[in-house]
Amino acid sequence: MLRALFLTLSNAKWAEKIVTTWPVARRMARRFVAGERAEEAIAAIRELNAQGIPATVDILGESIDDALQSAAMMQSYLSFIDLIEQEKLDAWLSVKLTALGVDIDAGLCRANLRTILTRAREAGIRVAIDMEGSHYTQRILDTIRAFRTEGFDNIRAVIQAYLYRSDEDIRALCDEGIGVRLCKGAYKEPPDIAYPRKADVDAAYHHQMLALLNAAKAGRGYPGIATHDENLIDAAKQHATEHQIALDRFEFQMLHGVRRDLQHQLVEEGYRMRVYVPFGVAWYAYFMRRLAERPANLWFFVRNLFRE
Ligand SMILES: Cc1cc2nc3c(=O)[nH]c(=O)nc-3n(C[C@H](O)[C@H](O)[C@H](O)COP(=O)(O)OP(=O)(O)OC[C@H]3O[C@@H](n4cnc5c(N)ncnc54)[C@H](O)[C@@H]3O)c2cc1C
Repeated sequence: MLRALFLTLSNAKWAEKIVTTWPVARRMARRFVAGERAEEAIAAIRELNAQGIPATVDILGESIDDALQSAAMMQSYLSFIDLIEQEKLDAWLSVKLTALGVDIDAGLCRANLRTILTRAREAGIRVAIDMEGSHYTQRILDTIRAFRTEGFDNIRAVIQAYLYRSDEDIRALCDEGIGVRLCKGAYKEPPDIAYPRKADVDAAYHHQMLALLNAAKAGRGYPGIATHDENLIDAAKQHATEHQIALDRFEFQMLHGVRRDLQHQLVEEGYRMRVYVPFGVAWYAYFMRRLAERPANLWFFVRNLFRE
């Protein structure tokens, strides 16, 4: 119930106006967001890189319905690529099509994405297209395939285990050799298209993860196992050992501010680990999704709210 409430609020402009003016919300969001400015993200990535952890950078912002704003987002990504190069950082990028104008015009969105992908390719940087609500799933996958066909081999996909369609999507993406980040899924979806029970989502994640690891062993794709779920992480480790899948054929991925202990443990054990580092002023929707994922975050938030 709380999950549904937070996911509904994540799309509510009125709630955004209220929450973003609360200093306590701002402070709490800092747990999940590297900062509002690029320099703060750079500092966070530098620190991760020093610990042997590469990053994926997300410039916060989504559901943009103004062409100038989508162009500004594209420019922000270009400037950030310059910074990655200047600072010699180990970082990929994550972008959302709704931040690049897909709701305004598909052509505009593709033009923005093409500019980012071209510059990223020059810099040797891979770009993952974050998966958003199911309304966008097919469009996002079509866009990725179109760019692959154009020769952009630095584009990557994200699949959400909770969608019934994901087994099939994973099979197809593996066949096409497209790199996949597998996550459980963070949006509010109806039961006719997504598993409503967490146990079913976890089971789906488990078998999809094994399919990705097996494909990686056969040289098809380089999966990002994006979860903080220790059972699933242990299952991935066990599968890799039993099937002699080299540790450089896949990587674990986690979110900035979540399970740092586990991030470091995996690195110490010799696994590849990448951390998703979001930054920017438009942190509200991202923050609400993080609250939705873990009720304990909510109680921490409420306790601090009443202390203000
Ligand atoms: C690198 C990365 C990229 C992602 N990209 C996308 C995307 O493009 N599209 C999308 O829909 N979703 C994305 N997600 C979010 C994902 O779908 C899940 O909502 C999120 O990762 C929580 O699920 P979990 O796999 O960690 O498992 P869960 O079963 O939810 O959590 C397992 C454990 O992890 C810890 N944990 C999980 N979330 C939190 C939190 N918010 N705060 C504190 N502790 C927490 C807790 O200890 C929890 O018990 C991404 C996640 C990661 C790690």
